[in-house]
Amino acid sequence: MSDAAEKTKRPRVNVRRPEVMEMVAAEVARHYQSSVVEKIRNHGGKLAIGNTTVLLAQQFGFCYGVERAIDLAYAARRVFPDNRIFLIGEIIHNPEVNRQLRDMGIVSLPWQEMGDSYDNLTAEDVVIVPAFGAPTHFMDKIEQLGCYVVDTTCGDVMKVWRRVRGYAKDGTTSIIHGKANHEETRATASRAQGEDGKGHYLIVLTLSDVDYVCGYLQTGGDKVEFTERFKHACSPGFDPDVHLDRVGVANQTTMLKSETEEIQRRFKKAIVERDGSDAKFQVFDTICGATQERQDALFEMLGQHMDLLLVVGGYNSSNTTHLVEIGEQQLPTFFIRDASCLKSLEEIVHYDIHHKEEVSSSYSELLLGDKPVTVGITAGASCPNNLIEDTIVKVFGLRGISGETLAQA
Ligand code: SF4
Repeated sequence: MSDAAEKTKRPRVNVRRPEVMEMVAAEVARHYQSSVVEKIRNHGGKLAIGNTTVLLAQQFGFCYGVERAIDLAYAARRVFPDNRIFLIGEIIHNPEVNRQLRDMGIVSLPWQEMGDSYDNLTAEDVVIVPAFGAPTHFMDKIEQLGCYVVDTTCGDVMKVWRRVRGYAKDGTTSIIHGKANHEETRATASRAQGEDGKGHYLIVLTLSDVDYVCGYLQTGGDKVEFTERFKHACSPGFDPDVHLDRVGVANQTTMLKSETEEIQRRFKKAIVERDGSDAKFQVFDTICGATQERQDALFEMLGQHMDLLLVVGGYNSSNTTHLVEIGEQQLPTFFIRDASCLKSLEEIVHYDIHHKEEVSSSYSELLLGDKPVTVGITAGASCPNNLIEDTIVKVFGLRGISGETLAQA
C-alpha cells in the first residue's frame, strides 16, 4: 500500500464492547435460537413421537466463525447507528441471515469485481468484511478510502493465509484445493501472491484436475491446453513449465476431508516420482475444525438406521454441499434451503448438487403411511437453529404430529 494510503487508513474499530455485546447476544438469540433444537439435543439427539423419529447429528449448524461474524455485524449496527454500513458480498452463505442484515440496513457490495460502488464509499462509511475474508485489493481499497472496517474474517481462514504467504516467501507455488469462484478461495489466492505480488497459485477442484496437473508436472504437456483449462484458476503470469517445480498444498477450509487427503497424496507421489524425493513438496491440512466435526458427526449418525436425510443450508454453502455428498452415498438425501421445501408427504423441493439446480422430487414411498419412519437432520456451519427447528416441526407436522404435541414431548 502507498504512503498516502497508509496515512488515510483508520485503525480497526473494536465493536465488541461489553454493553453492545449484551444487546447483540439477546438480538441474535431472538433471531436464530431454537427451543426445539435444544430439547432434542438434551434428549441425546433423538426425538421419537408415535411412529416418527427425528435424529439430529451431534454437531451441526452455526460454527464459532459464523457466530463471531454475525455478532460483529450486529454489533457494527449498534456502534454505528447513523452511518451507512456496507458488507463485501454476503456475511455467510445463508439467505435467512443475509436477509436479517439487509433488514438492518446493511447493504451488500459486489464481491467478484469491485465495480463503481466502491468508489462511492466515504470515510464515514462502515465496511464489514465477511467470515470468508476478502482479496487484498478489496482490503487496500477500503483502507485507502479511510472507511471504518469491521473485519469478521474467521481465524481458521487466516491460518490458511499465513500458510500460503509462507509458500510465496520461499518461492513455492500454492496449490489450493477449492472452488475458484468461492469468496474464501479468492481471498486466499490473493495472499498466495505474497507481499510483493510475485508468488503464484493454482486452484484445483476435482481429482481429474489433480491428475492432469500431476501428469504435467511429471512429463510436461500441452501448455496452451493447460493455460486454457486453468485460465480462471491461476495467478497472473502462471507458467506450468516453471511454476510447478516447487509446490505446497493448502485447501479451502470447508472441503471434504477425504478428498483433500487424496489430493495431497497424489501431489506428493507425483513429486517423488519426478524428483526421487519430496523436498519440493509441502502440505498443510487447512480443513477447519468445525467442518471436520460436522463431517465426522454425520458419519457417526449414518451408523444408525434412517429412512432419509435432510441437510439444511444455503445452496451456495461449500461445507453444506459436502455433507450432502457424504449422505447421498448411503441413503436418500435432500439438500433443502428451509422447511418450505417440504411441500407435502409426496413432494420435496431440493438442490441437486450434481446438476446445480433446484428440483422437485417425489418421496412418497419414504414418508407416507403408518409405518415407522426415521428422518435424520443435519445442517452446515452457516445454518441457524431456527431454520432447523422449522424443518423438525414440518416433518412431524406432515406425519400428523402437531406443534402442541411436539412442545409437550
Ligand atoms: S466453517 Fe470453519 S473457516 Fe468457515 S467460518 Fe466456520 S470455523 Fe471458520
